[in-house]
Amino acid sequence: MKKNKKITWDYSPAPESAAHINLKKKYVLYIDGKWVKPSSGKYFKTINPANNETLAEIAYANEKDVDKAIKAARKAYDTVWSKTTPSERAKYIYRIARLMQERAREFAVIETLDAGKVIRESRDIDIPLACNHFFYYAGWADKLEYAFPNRKVEPVGVAGQITPWNFPLLMAAWKIAPALATGNTVVLKPAETTPLTALKLAEIIHDAGLPPGVVNIVTGYGDTGAAIVEHDDVDKIAFTGSTRVGKIIQKTIAGTDKKATLELGGKSANIILEDAPLDQAVEGIVNGIFFNQGHVCCAGSRLFIQESVAEKVIDKLKHRLNSLIIGDPMDKNTDIGAVNSKMQLDSINKYIKIGLEEGATMYQPECTLPKNGYYCPPTLFTDVAQSSTIVQEEIFGPVLTIQTFRTVDEAIQKANNTPYGLAAGIWTDKGSRIFNLATKLNAGVIWANTYNKFDPTSPFGGFKESGFGREGGLHGLSAYVKLK
Ligand code: NAP
Ligand code: MG
Repeated sequence: MKKNKKITWDYSPAPESAAHINLKKKYVLYIDGKWVKPSSGKYFKTINPANNETLAEIAYANEKDVDKAIKAARKAYDTVWSKTTPSERAKYIYRIARLMQERAREFAVIETLDAGKVIRESRDIDIPLACNHFFYYAGWADKLEYAFPNRKVEPVGVAGQITPWNFPLLMAAWKIAPALATGNTVVLKPAETTPLTALKLAEIIHDAGLPPGVVNIVTGYGDTGAAIVEHDDVDKIAFTGSTRVGKIIQKTIAGTDKKATLELGGKSANIILEDAPLDQAVEGIVNGIFFNQGHVCCAGSRLFIQESVAEKVIDKLKHRLNSLIIGDPMDKNTDIGAVNSKMQLDSINKYIKIGLEEGATMYQPECTLPKNGYYCPPTLFTDVAQSSTIVQEEIFGPVLTIQTFRTVDEAIQKANNTPYGLAAGIWTDKGSRIFNLATKLNAGVIWANTYNKFDPTSPFGGFKESGFGREGGLHGLSAYVKLK
């Protein structure tokens, strides 16, 4: 393993305070506007992956609880929400957004504690974007006839929503906001390692006075999610998570009339052409894969550099890696926080081992990782082939594979040689090259001279094994409506 010297001074610690947050020791389920104990009587722990300390105990919802939540959602749909006028719906959604904004600092700290992501990201990206999704979709609620001109727009009914652990509150907002705006009711299950912000959102939804049963939050494991998918009275499934579970869901709902959107994994390509502004590109590559410890579905995890500038870019990249600060996610100086769970760290380390066994060359910066908690240094792999396991499979961690190319056609061919099709990045000085590449890359989202930028007005989703359907923007409304 080749290591390089750290090039930053130690900063004085600048930890965000957790003194102002309000966390209960034990959380139960939020069903029909009430906090209810799980029928199993079982609870599981959610930990802070940065230090392995327990944050709270969380109720485990079994089939019976899921059934209760779906019945509550159906009743709320039939008796209240489908009869609520669009402008009234908008008011509730605005109210949720405003309350979230008021408590943004608390949400950011809880997200960081529960997920291990750095406070800078939770504070500046996750929480503001989640609020913005509610604001944005509140705006659509009474304008659906403009979104779908000359069509009669009806809600789908009860939406079952299942979210992953990498952007816990943001994924909940992506799903709940458009569902409410279009008149549907919701049963949402957050990931088992990061349930806290969805439960805090339930508090806000309660404070906003949303009628009971319109949004229900059930916590639990994978089987809680499966119980939602299998339930007869769910009209739509919105799932974000792994391709493995996405395939199970697709099999389960085959032959039923359930609508579905599946936002799945990725192995996205970032392509640097020789005329690119290299320093800017290096910064974008770092943001593309090391942002949120690489726990990003659209992470730019495969880098392709045009041969003539490859050596220069790799040197710059290594230099930049040596200035990244890895450690306590609650510290405002930290660039890379904790990996979300032991299971995820084991999985990343397994891939690093495979990379080395398959003959790739690894580079990691010199860094001292905190003793408790789960951490992985940012990792580069060169000398990889298209067929290498670490080039083909999603690692979902801070691991970047680097390959070179001579012609643009070769870059396109290599970038498209993957079972996934979620995102891609292009770095070049020429607009014409951007258009050429963007039309030939099989990816749902393509960024040019930037990476990992999100906006509520912009649809997001993939091709191939990255799933189908779009969330966000006007397109995100389609998943929740029947058009007549
Ligand atoms: P995951 O294991 O597929 O889990 C996602 C959610 O599904 C969790 O709430 C999980 O519960 C639940 N679940 C597990 N098994 C289930 C089943 N059989 N039926 C129904 N639900 C089930 O994914 P993850 O590890 O949390 O998240 C990482 C993956 O999500 C990566 O592959 C990433 O690329 C993808 N992702 C995609 C997008 C996108 O927009 N395309 C965005 C973010 C993440 P438990 O937590 O209890 O297991
Ligand atoms: Mg946790």
